[in-house]
Amino acid sequence: MAVDVPLRCSCGALRGIAKEVAPERGNRIVCYCNDCQAFAHYLGRSDDMLNADGGTDIYQLSPARIKITEGENHLACMRLTPKGLMRWYASCCNTPVGNTMATAKAPFCGMMALFTDHEAQGQPRDVTAGPVRAHVNGQVGFVGDGGRKLSFFEKAGVLWHAVSLLLKGWVRGEARPSPFFADDGTPRAKPIVLSADERAELARRVGG
Ligand SMILES: [Zn+2]
Ligand SMILES: [Zn+2]
Repeated sequence: MAVDVPLRCSCGALRGIAKEVAPERGNRIVCYCNDCQAFAHYLGRSDDMLNADGGTDIYQLSPARIKITEGENHLACMRLTPKGLMRWYASCCNTPVGNTMATAKAPFCGMMALFTDHEAQGQPRDVTAGPVRAHVNGQVGFVGDGGRKLSFFEKAGVLWHAVSLLLKGWVRGEARPSPFFADDGTPRAKPIVLSADERAELARRVGG
C-alpha cells in the first residue's frame, strides 16, 4: 500500500512530504559512484550518509510527488561539475535531499534516505520504499543484497523497472510541479559549482 512519508532534514528546519511511497511506485537503489561519495564528503556527512562500503541509499520518484512544506529557504543546490547532476541539500544542517537532472523536464528525483523520516511514518524503509533492488556503480556492477551478482535477467528487470517509472512519470506529466524548479524551469536555488581544486580535494577524501 502506498503511504505518504514525512521528509525532514536533521535539524528539522526543512520539511516536506513524499507522496504515495511504495516499492512499486519508486526505485530503491544503493549507489556507489564516486560522485555520490564526493557529495557526502562535501556535506561533511560521509559518516551517516554512506554505508560501510561507501554506498548511498536512494529512492527514485517523480518531483510532482515531493512537496516542501517548511523552510524552503534552506533548500540549496550544488554540482560537482558544470554539467553534473544537481545535488540538493538542506543548507541549515547539510542534510542531503535528492539528486535531479539539470532540467525541470525530467520526471525524476533520487531522494536521499537521510532526508526521509520513516520513523515518523511508522514503518521501516524496507517496507515503505521496499528492499534495495540493486547496488549500482560498484566495482562489480549490479549486485543484489548480500553481494550476490545479479543475473542478466535480474539486471534487465531492474533497468526495466527504472525505465518504466520514468515513462509513466513522463506520460503523467509528473516533472511538475517540482520542489526544485519553478514553473518556468529555473532552479529554486542557484547551484554552487565546484572548482577543479575543490573537486580534486573531494576526490582525495573519497579515495582515502
Ligand atoms: Zn536542517
Ligand atoms: Zn551515485
